[in-house]
Order: sequence, then C-alpha cells, then structure tokens
Amino acid sequence: MKTATYNVRGMHCASCAGIIEKTFRKTAGVQSAEVNYGTETAKISFDELRVDENRLSKAIEPFGYSLVASGPSAEEMWMLADEYHKGTSISLERSTAKGNWSHAEHLGLNQPPLRQGYEGQAKEEKLAELAEMKWKVISAIPLTIISIFVMGWDALAELSYVAPQSSLVSEFFHHLLPLFATYVLFVVGKPYLLGFARFLRYGKANMDTLIGIGTSVAYLYSFILTAFEEPLRAFVNVDQTYYDVTIVVITFIALGKYAEAKSKLRTGEAIEKLLNLQAKTGLVLRDGKEVEVPIADIRHGDTVIVKPGARIPVDGILTDGESFIDEALVTGEPLPVRKKSGDTVVAGMINTTGSFTFRTTKIGSETFLAHIIKMVTEAQGSKAPIQALVDKISSVFVPIVLVLSFVTLGLWLIIGTEYLGFAKALSLGLTSFVGILVMACPCALGLATPTAIIVGVGKGAREGILIKDAATLQKLHTVNTVVVDKTGTLTRGKPELAEIKTLSDNSERDLVGILASLESKSEHPIAHAILEYAKEKGISLLPVDKFETVKGKGLHGVVGGVEYFAGNAKLASDLSLTVDHASVEKETTQGKTPILLMTRKETLGVCMVYDAIKQETTEAVRGLRKLGIHMIMLTGDDKNTAEAIAKEAGIDTVLAEVLPDIKLQKILELQQSGKIVAMAGDGVNDAPALAQADVGIAMATGTDVAIETAGITLLRGDISKLVKAVRLSRLTMRGVKQNLFWSFIYNLVGIPIAAGALYPVFGLLLSPIFAGMAMAFSSVSVVLNSLRFKNVKL
Ligand code: ADP
Ligand code: MG
Repeated sequence: MKTATYNVRGMHCASCAGIIEKTFRKTAGVQSAEVNYGTETAKISFDELRVDENRLSKAIEPFGYSLVASGPSAEEMWMLADEYHKGTSISLERSTAKGNWSHAEHLGLNQPPLRQGYEGQAKEEKLAELAEMKWKVISAIPLTIISIFVMGWDALAELSYVAPQSSLVSEFFHHLLPLFATYVLFVVGKPYLLGFARFLRYGKANMDTLIGIGTSVAYLYSFILTAFEEPLRAFVNVDQTYYDVTIVVITFIALGKYAEAKSKLRTGEAIEKLLNLQAKTGLVLRDGKEVEVPIADIRHGDTVIVKPGARIPVDGILTDGESFIDEALVTGEPLPVRKKSGDTVVAGMINTTGSFTFRTTKIGSETFLAHIIKMVTEAQGSKAPIQALVDKISSVFVPIVLVLSFVTLGLWLIIGTEYLGFAKALSLGLTSFVGILVMACPCALGLATPTAIIVGVGKGAREGILIKDAATLQKLHTVNTVVVDKTGTLTRGKPELAEIKTLSDNSERDLVGILASLESKSEHPIAHAILEYAKEKGISLLPVDKFETVKGKGLHGVVGGVEYFAGNAKLASDLSLTVDHASVEKETTQGKTPILLMTRKETLGVCMVYDAIKQETTEAVRGLRKLGIHMIMLTGDDKNTAEAIAKEAGIDTVLAEVLPDIKLQKILELQQSGKIVAMAGDGVNDAPALAQADVGIAMATGTDVAIETAGITLLRGDISKLVKAVRLSRLTMRGVKQNLFWSFIYNLVGIPIAAGALYPVFGLLLSPIFAGMAMAFSSVSVVLNSLRFKNVKL
C-alpha cells in the first residue's frame, strides 16, 4: 500500500474535485482518495501491485485531468543524492518513470535538491498555463468592449435615448459579432466546450459543463437565426441574437478564472518562503581546508564553518566559537539568540556577526526546516471538516442546476407563450436558461474553505505555530477550556535547587550526594536541577543499584547498601512516613517544590526546587482570558506549590498532585461535562492527555518538532503563541464562513432572478451577462478575502 500526493492538472472548479475523487475510488486497487481544489492535489492510497501512477492518471484523463508526478519527495531526493555519492548507479529508471525529473537535473547540484522537489515542475506548468490564460483573456477584451458597446447602443435606442445606428453601421457591427463570438467560444472558451463535450460523452458535469452548455446553446441558437433568417422570421424574433452573451460571459469567466488562479498562487507563498530559507551551499572542512560544497554534499559528522551573515546550511551542534543567530524566519523568535558550544543550530537560520563551526547531525529531509515544510505542505493540502458539507453540496449542485435550467426553459415556453407569444417567450426562456447555467457555477464555493486554510496554516508557520491539519485549525476555534501543564509550559522547565533542609544528622553535602546519585538515572527536569547543583559544588556521585522510578511520585534505588526514596508527599505516605507539612509550608507557598529524601524508616531531609515562571506566562494567560477561554492548571506537583505558581500566572483553577494516568482522566471528565478542551504540555510525559484533548498543543523545546500526538506545535515552547494560535484559528474560520456566505448568497439570490422569478411582477430578468460578471466577481472576491488575512496582525 502506498500513499502519495500528486498535483492534478486541469482542475478548474470545485466539482472537479468530486469527479476525480469518485473516479479514483472506483478504480481497482485504490483504497482512498482525497482531492483538494485549493491546492490542486490528490492524496491517494493505493495498492502498488494492482495499480500505478500512470494508470491512475489514465483513469481521469477522459474527463480532462491528469496527474503530475510531483517530483521526488525531499526524502527520495536525498536517497538519490546519497546513491550518487556512494558512486553506485542511480536508479535512472525511477526518475524517468516519474517522467518529470531528468537525472542530470536533480543532481546538477548547484540547486538545493529540497527546492526542486517541492517547487518542481508543477509550478512551472502552472505559470505557463497562467501565461496562456492571460493571453487569451487579453485578446478577448477588445471584442467584449465592442460587443458591450453595440449591445448598449441597441438597448438605449430601444428606449429612444439615442438615435438608432444608421443601418450601414449597424449592419457592419452586427455582422462582426458572430465572428467575435466564434473566436471567443472556440479559442478562449475551449475548456468550457470540452466540458460540454465530456458531458455528452461520459455524462460527467462540472462547472465547465454549465458554462459550456450555456454559451454554446446561446451561440448555436444565434447561429441558426443568422443562417436561416428569412424562413424563421415568421416564428421568432430573428434580430434577438445571443452572440454578445457568448462573448461577454466567456470573457468575464475567463478573466475571473485568471484572477483567481493568479491569487491562488499567492496563497501558497508561505511554503515558498520557507523553501527560500534553505541555503544552497555550505562551507565545510575537508582535509583541513575550507571548501564550499552544495548542501547535498554535506554528510553527517561534517564540520561546517559559518561566517558572519551566512545562512546555516544543515542542522548540527555548535563546537567552536559563538555568535548571535537570527532564527526569526524559522521559529518566529524576534530577537537574535546567543549560541555557544553545545547548542543546537538549525538549517535556515542566519548567523549575525560572530563566526563559528558546528558538527553536522541532520541533513536533507531530517532537518528541522524540512520537517516544518513537510508539515505545512500536508496541512495546507488537508481538508477541513466543514469542507465535507461543501463537497456534498457542490456534487449535487451541478446536476440539479442542469435539470433546473431545462425545466425553466420549458416553463417559459409553456406558460410564457400563453401570455407573451412564442417568439418573446422563447427569447426570454433562452435568456433564463443561459443565465441559470452561468449563475450557478459553484466555483467560489470550492475556493471558500481551502484558500482560507492555506493562508491560515501558512501564517501560523511564519509565527512559529505549526498546525498539523485543517481539522485541528477548525477545532481550535471552538475551544473554550485550555488545560496547561505547569512544568515547562507555564514555568521555564529549568528548575534550580534553591534550599536544602536536613532533618537528620546527615550533612547537606551527604544528602545532595545521595539524591544526585539517584537523580542521575532520571530524566525529569527536577533531576537536572539537582545534578547541576551537585556539579557546581563538586559533590561526587555514588553508584546506584536497583533503580526504579515511581510514576508521578519520584524514584528509589540502593546507594551504599541502603535503600533510598526521593519524591513527593505521596511517596512518603506510601512508605507510611508522616511529613511535617508545616516545615515546608513557607517554601511551597512561594512556589517551590519539596523533594523528600527518605529511607524506609525516616525522612532524611528536603530539597526545595524552584522553577521560575516564564516571562510571557502572565501576559499569555491574560490574553487567553480575554478570548473567553477558561484556563486550568494540571500538575503532578505539590498542591501549595501549584497554587502559588497558578496565582502568579493568574490562573484560578488548579488540579494538583495528579498522577500522569489521571491527567487523561481529567481531560475526559471535562469533555464529558461539555467542554471543548485544548491541552498544552511538553508532549513527553503528557502525550496521552494531549492525544485525548480535542486539540493537543505541544510546547516544542528547542528545535524538535517530532511531537506526533500534538495537533499544534508551538516552537520555542512559547506559551504566548497559544494566544496567537487561538486568534489565528478564529480568524481563519471567520474567513471560511464569510467566504461560504458570499459564495452561497450569489447563487441563492442569482438563480431565482435568472430563472425569471421577478419577471411576472417587475418585468425583470437577469441578463446572462450580469450572471457572468457576478460569478467572476464572486470567486475573485473569495480568494482576495482569504488573502486579506495574511496581513492581519495576530
Ligand atoms: P508534572 O509534569 O506535572 O510536574 P510529574 O508527574 O512529572 O508531574 O511529577 C510529579 C511529581 O513527582 C513532581 O512534582 C515531584 O514531586 C515528583 N517527581 C517526579 N519525578 C521526580 C524525580 N526524578 N525526582 C524527584 N521527584 C520527582
Ligand atoms: Mg511534566
């Protein structure tokens, strides 16, 4: 079973997505298919033994679409580059089979492979398509202007506002219109004609079909009148032709499509910007010499030299020198960050003034930047749940409209003839028929959700908010309760040993020695604090036997033949030791965590560990409250300690001394009481709770994004980004709803008017020309509305 995402060529409307999805699902060997009109991609899971890309593409070709192999993924590219370096023969067949990647091209390594993979051919093709569209539209515009002029003059003359054109001029222009209409329909309107033809052949209708039927019926009817003017004169009004309708409608729709395609390219700019962060070359130490090599040549373990102002080419650990690094573009951190020996540096970040070297740890698709790009690409291509409804509507929309247009024409002929006579009823009926078909195009509907999602996800990435998929973004806007973990989320996650109290005849140094020895086996932030302290004071560690952690309580192990326990009051009561709460009360109410060191018989002492609150916490809590979100702190820490920290942060609900397994239970309880819960935690020991929450938000420490259970990852563990994330989701969903409203309203109001609902009372019938304008306007306005959010400050 293989799952891959392909660009799709030839998608012009939302109903295209439905047709392609259905076709794939019916294709043997395909398990699932998800087609997104916003990104023009298809995500297909299929059995490689039964069907291949070629065959998939063939399946949709009759309907005017095809798959564009999206180029090797970043991963595949690096594999190819690897093979190249190992000197083995490269799987040429594979790259040629994919059809779009010449071997020399992607190993012509002066371009970063990563860029080629993503931008690939699809974009170039899109640009070429756009250039052709532009040329066609431009050629049709003068013809349209002349048609509108002729039409306008006729209309005004009928109302006696202007003198009718002299018969010579009138004859001349009226004979030009058929020529214009022929060019516009067969050249500019070719996609719509093809849509009509496919409908006749395969019975599959999309938006192109509607336009195609409408405009070619208008054209054909007019042509028959022109050809058989004399014999038909007795039955119909032969002067009432529809060439102008064909010309103007097609030009407007084409113009709208062009504007839409152009702005749609802009919605994807976020990815392009991320790709541009990738350096093309790096300065590497080879045989003691500095050599500039393409990034594909940089290997694990290579020493990379970074000069002032240079971009960091791959991920690694700084070994020598130090500098301030501008990582704004990667993590959204506004100020340059100081990096010294041992710190992680990441591809895409820019060195400021210092100079340093680092050891390469991650290359190609393993890098942090590559992960971000992959995540953003996938999220932008995913479908929001709200889209399911839209898909359903647009899939039944086209057939319904087709039927409706024919029924309307019939009604005009039957009822209209009685009151108005056949000639007039036929001309009004045809106007309605074409008007409905043009008005009903569900193009704006198909753009409403995806364009807003693409912009929202991209905007998030620029702010250091990584969103896993559209569903998460949609869910987040309904969240009313945020549960936060204390350590590492509200506090810095880097506790320090603040105080030592001995309760026995052991010295402080002895206590720390035993405790540090035990903690050296643990990975809890508390362990780190104690080890740091021991190191600072030069206290040496002793060997530990039979070490074990006690979840949510602490740990125990044997040091020098004695069994010791270290942890919280729960652990003490497990040992039936009484803890004198009063002795630590002052410290706990200051937000310090007591760590008790015990044997089976007595408490030897207490170490107070303090983890300071993050600078941005208070502000973030205030921001969330302003958004109407209730915050709850959930922690395994001591009750007094938790309450002290909560008070400082401004949180009023605290659930303290909660064991890790119970955290999940608490989330469930909140959900059962009707709350929509987001949980923000470090993603390591909170993973089950994060997964249970409606939205799991992981605080990424450093530059690790491999937090799979989280729907949203906040880079740099910055809690204030949580406020931005909520605002972003609300902004995006507001955009989606506005877009849906506007695209529906056009159809809802336009179709009845086009059908003639206002005619009996007001004598008003919507000209197909206005329908064409309205359609063009609605899809462009939807895309522009989505783009507008790009510049809204979060
Ligand atoms: P949280 O992540 O909410 O702080 P944990 O379940 O990680 O909760 O820890 C709960 C409590 O268990 C800590 O506050 C501490 O008292 C005790 N504890 C956990 N690990 C250790 C450890 N390595 N050393 C001492 N105490 C620990
Ligand atoms: Mg924790």
